[in-house]
Amino acid sequence: MVETTDKPEDLRPRAPVVTIMGHVDHGKTSLLDAIRNANVAAGEAGGITQHIGAYRVSTKNGDVVFLDTPGHEAFTEMRARGAQVTDIVVLVVAADDGVMPQTLEALNHAKDAEVPIIVAVNKIDKPGAQPDRIRQQLSAHGLTPEEWGGETIYCDVSARARTGIDKLLEMLALQSEILELKANPNKAAKATVVEARMDAKRGPVSTMLVQEGTLRVGDTVVVGEELGKVRAMIDDKGRQLQQAGPSTPAEILGLSGVPKAGEVMNVVTDERAAKELVEHRRIRRIEKERAKAGPVSLDKLMDAMRAGLKELKIILKADVQGSVEALSSALSKLSTEKVKVTVIQAAVGGITETDVNLAKAGNAIIIGFHVRPAGKASSLAEQEGVDIKLYDIIYDAVDEVKQAMAGLL
Ligand code: GDP
Repeated sequence: MVETTDKPEDLRPRAPVVTIMGHVDHGKTSLLDAIRNANVAAGEAGGITQHIGAYRVSTKNGDVVFLDTPGHEAFTEMRARGAQVTDIVVLVVAADDGVMPQTLEALNHAKDAEVPIIVAVNKIDKPGAQPDRIRQQLSAHGLTPEEWGGETIYCDVSARARTGIDKLLEMLALQSEILELKANPNKAAKATVVEARMDAKRGPVSTMLVQEGTLRVGDTVVVGEELGKVRAMIDDKGRQLQQAGPSTPAEILGLSGVPKAGEVMNVVTDERAAKELVEHRRIRRIEKERAKAGPVSLDKLMDAMRAGLKELKIILKADVQGSVEALSSALSKLSTEKVKVTVIQAAVGGITETDVNLAKAGNAIIIGFHVRPAGKASSLAEQEGVDIKLYDIIYDAVDEVKQAMAGLL
C-alpha cells in the first residue's frame, strides 16, 4: 500500500483514543463503566451501549474514544504487532492503596511507547483516600503534577460515586487539542483491528478503529492476509452505520476470516489490487520468516549495531529490590557514545508474558537475575524471538552485556 502524505489543509481534528491502565483492582473496569454511563445519562441519542471493544463518548470539548480492554496486556500485544492506536494513557491509581507494581509496569509501557499519561486518582470516596500521597509517589517516577509545577495532569475521581468523571473527560479532550491529533477523512480508509471473533450467525466479526480516511459499507478491504467486503457496520450503540471516519470504532461484517488485534485494514479500490496486496503480504511474511533477522539478541548485538541500532533496551527482573537497583545502575553505566543502554523496566519478580510482549514491542532483551520465566513466558519468548538471559552473579550479567557491546563474544 502506498502511504501518501496528506496536505495540511486536508487534515481535520480527530478524537483521541484512550487506554486505561493501572494495578489490578484499582478500578479500571469501573472507570470504563462510569464513563460509558455518564455519557448515556447525559442523554446521548441512540441505542443501548454494546461491548464491541471500544466506545466513543461526547463531551462539550469534543469526542473521546476509549479502548474497552483495560490493562496493559492488550496495549502491549497490539504494539508488538506494530500497531499504536492509543493517543493518551489514563493511569488509574486507587487513592487508598497507592502506587503498586502494575502501576509502575503500566507507566513503563506508556513511557516506552511515548504516549502521554493522565493520572486518575480513583476511589477518593473512600475514608482512607490520600490523593496527595499518590501525587508524591508518582512524582518520584517523573509524573510531577501540574499544580506542583510539573507537567502531568491529575484528576481525582470516584468510579463508584461517579464524581470527577466529567472533569477527566474534559481533560482528555483538552489534551487531544494540545496533541493536535488530526487525520484526513477524505480518502480510502485505514483502520486497525481492536478485537475480532467468529460469530456463529454472522461469521467473522471484527471491531475496527478507523485511523484515517472514511470506511464505507461496500468497500473492498484487506486485513493482514484476509480479503473482504464490508457488508455492514455497527457502532458501539448498536446502530447501523453507512460510513465511519477517523477515530470511529465500529464492528465490521464481511471479512473472509478472523484477523488479529493490532492488524491493519486497508481499503483497496479493486479486487485485483486487493488480491495482489494479499499475495504481496504473504510473500513478505514468508521472506521475513526466512530471514529471521528479527528482534535484538545479545549474541547478534554487533550485527544489530552495524545495522544501525543505537539503543540497547533491557527489561530487568530480579528476586530482590537491592539487586534490581544494583544491576539497573550497573547496566545503564555501560552506555557508550555509539550505543545507549536503557533499562526500560526494572522490577522484582519472575519473567512474565507481559515482559516478553513489552520486549517484543520495544525491541528489548530480558535479563533475569535469580529469577526464571513464569508460565508461558518461555515458550512465548521462543516463538517471538525475544532474547532472555538468566544470571546468578551480577558481575556475569554486566560483563556479558559489556562483552557483547564490545563485539568480543
Ligand atoms: P480493575 O481490576 O482495575 O478493573 O478494578 P475494578 O473496576 O474491577 O474494581 C475493583 C474493585 O474496586 C471493585 O470492587 C469496585 O467496585 C471497587 N471500586 C472501583 N472504583 C471504586 C471507587 O471509586 N470507589 C470505591 N469505594 N470502590 C471502587
